[in-house]
Amino acid sequence: MSHTLVIAEHDQGQVKLASFSAAAFAQQIAASAGGSFDILVLGSGVSAAAEALRSAGAKTVLVADHAELAQPLADRYAQVIADVVKARGATLVVGAVSTFTKDVLPRAAALVDAGMVSDVVGLEGDAFRRVMFAGNVLATVRLEGAIKFVTVRSAAFAAATPSSAQSPVEAVAVDAGALPKFATFVNREVKKSARPDATEARIIVSGGRALKNSEDFERLVGGLADTLGAAVGSSRALVDSGITPNSLQIGQTGKIVAPDLYLAVGISGAIQHMAGMKDTKIIAAINKDAEAPIFEVADYGLVADVYEAVPEMIQKLKK
Ligand SMILES: Cc1cc2nc3c(=O)[nH]c(=O)nc-3n(C[C@H](O)[C@H](O)[C@H](O)COP(=O)(O)OP(=O)(O)OC[C@H]3O[C@@H](n4cnc5c(N)ncnc54)[C@H](O)[C@@H]3O)c2cc1C
Repeated sequence: MSHTLVIAEHDQGQVKLASFSAAAFAQQIAASAGGSFDILVLGSGVSAAAEALRSAGAKTVLVADHAELAQPLADRYAQVIADVVKARGATLVVGAVSTFTKDVLPRAAALVDAGMVSDVVGLEGDAFRRVMFAGNVLATVRLEGAIKFVTVRSAAFAAATPSSAQSPVEAVAVDAGALPKFATFVNREVKKSARPDATEARIIVSGGRALKNSEDFERLVGGLADTLGAAVGSSRALVDSGITPNSLQIGQTGKIVAPDLYLAVGISGAIQHMAGMKDTKIIAAINKDAEAPIFEVADYGLVADVYEAVPEMIQKLKK
């Protein structure tokens, strides 16, 4: 019997869709090993987030709501998670793969002396299947010890079917005086964008080195994305040359995405890029080189110059 604790992630109270995938994984564990799962949401003024999580099938939605948790500072969050794990006797802690969980969960695991496995895409008995080396190796890992921590790829676990039964919400006491204060919040700079976030979007238009400068990227990749109501993404080549911000990078060292449609515009298809988007349902690519590796994974391919094809596509789509 397992008792799983899912760590929900939210942005200023808006629950990230990936949290529902982590809940789906917890449901799968509960179905195969028996037991139940709770969801923990941390922050300040997070009642709306807790409310949104009530349909995810958890036994209880636990809420650690305190002014000291207003910003996701890893040392404080890890301490609260560790306290809840001990108090509730959780044997498995689950989060969706993200920069937030990369920062927080290993610290929490260390505090409760637990082993951790990241990038989990499946279960094999009591072991976890995880991807390694840019998706080229699929490892099966068994964790020893009473408590286990895992992060799961949201693409591998469809979001939990909303349950008609609403989970009860329970407040978790936060001992603010005992929270570590190694880190202090200074400032948050949020790039305002009307476009959806690539990790949550159904369609992504992503640009590569074919785009010569920021203006061309915005006009072609941004323009096509806006016509389709899509998010924008970028290869690392454009990030390294300062044409696009780091936040747009898709790939092994960028965001891992799995939209319904990924449109690669002038991207060669290096393995490090594909590691971040190959779980996409439909991949379409435009490249002037018919031998480009992206065409090996693409469902639809157009051999063309992006400077000619994309304006034409935008024009036709607008009609
Ligand atoms: C440790 C490590 C981690 C990495 N992590 C990442 C990562 O997270 N994400 C990532 O993207 N990369 C990553 N990379 C870099 C990766 O190896 C590639 O260098 C990069 O993805 C290449 O980007 P690109 O496809 O835009 O550029 P290129 O490989 O230069 O390809 C450009 C493509 O555009 C085509 N093209 C050029 N002009 C036109 C035109 N006018 N019309 C149509 N097509 C045109 C070319 O035929 C070519 O196929 C990583 C590398 C390392 C070593």
